[in-house]
Amino acid sequence: MFAGRSLMAVVKAGAYGHGLEPLANFLNEQAADLAFFGVANVGEARRIRAAGIETPIYILGPSLANERAEIVAQRWTACLSSLEEAHDFNRLAGATGQKLAVQIALDTGMGRGGFTPETLSAGWSELVALPFLSIEGIGSHLPSADEDEEFTRQQFAQFREIVDLLQTTHPFRWVHLANSAGLLGYPPANCNLARPGLMLYGISPLRDQQSRLRPVMKLMSRVTLIRTLPAGHGVSYGREFVTARPTRVATVGIGYGDGYPRRVSGNHADVWIRGARFPIIGRVTMDQLLVDVTDGEVSEGDEVEVFGPNILASEVAEKAGMITWEIFTGIAPRVVRIYREPSLGSP
Ligand SMILES: *Cc1c(COP(=O)(O)O)cnc(C)c1O
Repeated sequence: MFAGRSLMAVVKAGAYGHGLEPLANFLNEQAADLAFFGVANVGEARRIRAAGIETPIYILGPSLANERAEIVAQRWTACLSSLEEAHDFNRLAGATGQKLAVQIALDTGMGRGGFTPETLSAGWSELVALPFLSIEGIGSHLPSADEDEEFTRQQFAQFREIVDLLQTTHPFRWVHLANSAGLLGYPPANCNLARPGLMLYGISPLRDQQSRLRPVMKLMSRVTLIRTLPAGHGVSYGREFVTARPTRVATVGIGYGDGYPRRVSGNHADVWIRGARFPIIGRVTMDQLLVDVTDGEVSEGDEVEVFGPNILASEVAEKAGMITWEIFTGIAPRVVRIYREPSLGSP
């Protein structure tokens, strides 16, 4: 799936809410061609090292000046956005007497960090002359690979052009551009490193590519109570839902306090019980939500898949007007994480 590219496993935000240490350990043992863990900041880098994992770490975001000495001492890979940053890292590396491997962030349209093509071309000779930096890679980021194909194709072309030009005099060890949507929806360009986040967790940002993946997280709860309400009875806060018929209502022990989005309320979201879909009715509350189980065989104590292989997290996100990244990273600490070895292989 990564077309011969090595892997930067993006595990920021607690491995997208899946749990940083367990996922990093698993990927470290199982992922082929794992070159880096991609994290957001030094806090996450520390946690990976504290878990005893020695895989190289790439810090995706900019660092604060007072974090740089630690980055240098730990030999984490920073991506540079400015000459000032480069000079500072060069000075700190010089103090250790050892060259530091860094990478260049190139802004081809994301507008969040990196050198613009103009600032990079103006600063390039100064950058490569810094004696204690070894510029071993270059990367850029796609802001709309799942929304705007034309712009994304232009970005691929611009990235390739700039990198190919630089490589005539400065071969990079690592060249990388694509996030999940870029990897699933576009040809590999001139890159040798893939930076998947969401797809590592089994959800495709491109709906038509979902069959290539299998969701990693299953969010489960249980039916805690079943009651039959007469027609004309309100269900949940605001009484936005009123029963139109005598209705068997299952209470499920999960709510927005667990990170299940309250905003699905009224948008026809389903849960999965005993092999079938059932609709959520009324507003999602903090600890509980309500499901119409009139048309099925459901009992108190039954397991409920809130999302997972049958109800995709991306479906919940869509019903809530959110994105899957928010759903995953919003799962609250009170949800108990249970880790099972997956059966590896094709989905
Ligand atoms: C988060 C992030 C990724 C991963 O993005 P997905 O869309 O989740 O695959 C890749 N690159 C950078 C720079 C990121 O910040």
